[in-house]
Parts: sequence; structure tokens; C-alpha cells
Amino acid sequence: MPHSPGPDRRTVFRGAALTSGAAVLGGALTVSPAHAEPIRIAEPALYTRGDWNARPPSGPVQILAEPPTRIVVHHTATPNTDDLSEGAALALSRSIQDFHMDTQGWIDAGQQLTISRGGHIMEGRNRALPAIREGTQCVGTHVANHNNTTIGIENEGTYTDVEPTGELIDALVETLAWLCEAYGLSPDAIVGHRDFNATECPGEVLYGMLPELRSRTMGVLEAKGVRVPPSSRVEPADAPSYPQVPDDEPDQAFYHGPVRGPDDISR
Ligand SMILES: [Zn+2]
Repeated sequence: MPHSPGPDRRTVFRGAALTSGAAVLGGALTVSPAHAEPIRIAEPALYTRGDWNARPPSGPVQILAEPPTRIVVHHTATPNTDDLSEGAALALSRSIQDFHMDTQGWIDAGQQLTISRGGHIMEGRNRALPAIREGTQCVGTHVANHNNTTIGIENEGTYTDVEPTGELIDALVETLAWLCEAYGLSPDAIVGHRDFNATECPGEVLYGMLPELRSRTMGVLEAKGVRVPPSSRVEPADAPSYPQVPDDEPDQAFYHGPVRGPDDISR
């Protein structure tokens, strides 16, 4: 079973405390108004890196004080397996990490969170979960030139012409609502990888579901009484560029478009 959040989270207030070992860049920690609010949306039950037996990162993961301004939805470009089990989900996380470290040469898994077709939610890059809890940002490698302002969710499967499982979508909505509250973001902040980079990711069908995902996420936030900002903070450099989707994108498991560019300070 995945880890469950503590029993008293409704009474926990978000603070500015950073755990030891976190490298804070960009000056003083800023606390958004959302962080003065009591937490209303419980952290989803999820599997930590320890649960899926992650390898340690090969280098230090960067933690930024400034929270992300966008939540990026990806697909993994892997087969749409019928195995919805916990075991398959944990194996997926290990496979992604191995590919990203051994083939791509990154310090760790690129994405902050992973959701399997069975609806199992996994922590990705090292320190991703503590960063969300703190309202800080664990910098990943998942969307070229925007890694320092985005958090990425890898959704298992290939969604060019079929929808994800209901289990995956339900878990994704739960995750999106949790992240929106944690970072003080409006559901408008939910975008697809192809909004930033020339790629099919997260697939034509899943990309077409983004309005529904934003709407369902808003529904969760409103039902829980979360104060939703009117729109998400977007710096000009962080605005989606909506490039063309390439016709000849490589057909390869785990390849879902450009994930690191010259503007990224991270690996
Ligand atoms: Zn992607």
C-alpha cells in the first residue's frame, strides 16, 4: 500500500521551513498568500522513492524557493498496458529512472511525479515530494527551456488515439488539485508538454482532455473551499509558445519530445 498522509493534515499550516540539505537558489524564500491558508486538500496516497526502490541521484537535485507556475501533463510514450497492478506501477518508475539516468545521462528521473494506468501515483525525482510539501520547487528535466518554472507529471501510456484509463484520470485530477493548492495555482496553470515544445506529448487525445482536467480540478478545489487565484502567475519568458507538432517525432518508449534546452540551468 502507498504511504498515507498523516492524520492531522487539516490542521497543518504551510510554513517556510526548508529541510536541511536543500539548496536554495534565487534569494529569500517567498511565501505566497496561499501558503498562509490551512491545507484543505489531502496529499494523495502515493508511493515514495523508497517504495519503488529508487536509485540515489548521481548528482545534487536543485531546489528553488520560487514555486512552479505551470503544471505540465506528459505521457510516457510506452505501451497502453492492461496490467494495472501496484507491481507494474513500481516497475514503471524504476524503468523510467533507469532510462533517464543510463540512456539520457541525467542525474535522476526527469519528472517530479508519475501516474500509472492503474492510477498509482509515484514520486519521481529525488526530493520532489518534500518540495511540494514545502511549497518549493524540485527542478526536473521534462520540458525544454522551462524546467525551472514547471512541475511535470508523467502519465503511463501513449494517448495519440485512445483515452487513458479512468483510474489514471481520477488519480491525475486528485494530483492536479493537490498541486494547485500546494502552489497557489489556478487550474489554468495545467498545460501539456506540447504547449511549450515541438512534440506530440501528451498525445492528441490526452491533450484534448486538458479542458476537462482543468474543469474537474476546479470542481475539487471549489468543493474543498480552496481559495483559487483568478489566474496563474506567468512571466513572459514562461508563457507557452505552442510550437508545431512534428510529423516525424521518434517513436520510442519514454521519448516524448524535447526535455532540456539551452535556457535550463538544470540537468
Ligand atoms: Zn512530455
